[in-house]
Amino acid sequence: MYRSHTCGELRPSHVGQTITLAGWVQTIRKFGSITFVDLRDRYGITQLVFGEELNQLLDDSPLGREYVLQITGVVEERSNKNLNIPTGEIELNVSALKILNKSVTPPFSIQDDTDGGDDLRMKYRYLDLRRNAVKRNLELRYAVNRSARNYLHENNFMDIETPFLIKSTPEGARDFVVPSRMNAGQFYALPQSPQTFKQLLMVSGYDRYYQIVKCFRDEDLRADRQPEFTQIDCEMCFVEQEDILSMFEGLVRRIFKDVKQIDYVEKIERMTWEDAMWKYGNDKPDIRFGMSLCNLKFPSHTFPGKPSMAELIDTANFPVFDNAETVVAISVSKASEYTRKQTDELIEWVKRPQIGMMGMAFIKCNPDGTFKSSIDKFYSEERLKAIASAVNAKPGDLILLLAGAEERTRKAMSELRLELGKRLGLRKENEFKLLWVLDFPLFEYDSDDNRWVARHHPFTSPKPAHIEMMINNDPVISDAAKYLEHPYANIKANAYDMVLNGNEIGGGSIRIYQRELQEKMFAALGMSKEESLHKFSFLLGAFEYGAPPHGGIAFGFDRLCAILGGSESIRDFIAFPKNNSGRDVMLDAPATIDQKQLNELQIQTVEK
Ligand code: ASP
Repeated sequence: MYRSHTCGELRPSHVGQTITLAGWVQTIRKFGSITFVDLRDRYGITQLVFGEELNQLLDDSPLGREYVLQITGVVEERSNKNLNIPTGEIELNVSALKILNKSVTPPFSIQDDTDGGDDLRMKYRYLDLRRNAVKRNLELRYAVNRSARNYLHENNFMDIETPFLIKSTPEGARDFVVPSRMNAGQFYALPQSPQTFKQLLMVSGYDRYYQIVKCFRDEDLRADRQPEFTQIDCEMCFVEQEDILSMFEGLVRRIFKDVKQIDYVEKIERMTWEDAMWKYGNDKPDIRFGMSLCNLKFPSHTFPGKPSMAELIDTANFPVFDNAETVVAISVSKASEYTRKQTDELIEWVKRPQIGMMGMAFIKCNPDGTFKSSIDKFYSEERLKAIASAVNAKPGDLILLLAGAEERTRKAMSELRLELGKRLGLRKENEFKLLWVLDFPLFEYDSDDNRWVARHHPFTSPKPAHIEMMINNDPVISDAAKYLEHPYANIKANAYDMVLNGNEIGGGSIRIYQRELQEKMFAALGMSKEESLHKFSFLLGAFEYGAPPHGGIAFGFDRLCAILGGSESIRDFIAFPKNNSGRDVMLDAPATIDQKQLNELQIQTVEK
């Protein structure tokens, strides 16, 4: 037996007992003939005291940081207690020491505020993982995992593994491919998600499936994405949207309770995709704070039926606004006293290439009821007042206005809103706000290929009321500039996203389960009959053998953990993550392979 207790376990109640610990040397402090060593394991730190006798031994073979020790000793009460750590009231008076293994000096200090930079810590991730901060994140990840499994198990879900070596599943990214030696010249794809398998499991009658599963997507790694990531992937049959929403609200509430001890009892808000875009310019709005958008001017087909205030904007001979497709505003509470420097800084912020605006106008609503604006030259006091009232701004507020092409301007305003929310401390880390976004468009228009693409994936069903619209209209877009006027642009999907604090943490849909409609969907996406059969004959075939109505959802497990852990980075919650270029710097992967392997696979590489 290597140890009788762990390094996090000993308390004053153990005083007098002889115990054995095993762990790593965190620190060594020598005071004359006494040496103190902090011994660390996964559970905590225990202070060891080496008295005179053993000190000689330490002089002969000195200890170093990260040495692995086995020690035996008697638990004693400390005279100098450290109440900051759970074992701080005791220490272990060492009577026997065995060095189980030595360590070279680690490249960075293994403590909470380490001196190791990101790259170094990733290269030596096995050492980084010894640090408390990382360990706590992995513990949280495991707690979320347990909580989800318990809930799903209690609700009759069955964990069923699905294969990794498969044929492409379309989730909108590129596939990672794996060459097959036994079928030279042919490739497997790694699943972007187990989507088609979980649907087949429904056809097979396993009416509640889940899996906490790796998914692989070869996409350019925008901020904080990983090429392999984990989903809590679920599917149910004989369900409608409402059944799914309530089952998975339950899951998230349970995770909050188990992991954060938070009773999320309030009703989870719901918003249509159109309202989210209208009010926040974003399909995953952070609703921890207001500051919603005021749409002064916008192309009528984008938000049919929504009231326009274009006349308020357009009749002042201000070319920037007159020529803009869209003018949106937000009102920043109590910011009318911003200095010139502060407003200039915000203007510079929206001009950054990532945001891409040419400029920004502002109106200061002075506390005395007057206005000061960067567009006074064009807009009379009276008109500024009318705009302020449209924007719902109060005296003391600052109105910010962006103008330009619809998509870019709306997105920029959404980013600006989030940035201001951050700067003004409105995005509180320990406040959690869940939201369902519903009624997404079924299709998106791909202007490069002049065709429709599935906004979610091709297995998502249209709203029942819109099925006719899909069946009875030709998908061909004759005038690309007017794609928004095509009936397909108005077809809504039976799809839903769960949003937490401005992050999409889950998404899913009620699926198509009839062969004809699925074929129609493939055709709508520009797939020929041959292509759809080549790619999906298994699914279309399965739909002919009594496929039940079904639907599901998948949660981004890494992201959910990061948010619950109060971090912006999913990497911190993954034991062995990749860097921003998709590299594992510890393994130094990806890497070239031997010529012999290439030959076996009948693969030739070409220099570009
Ligand atoms: N497979 C989908 C995704 O990965 C989720 C779902 O529709 O269940 O986003």
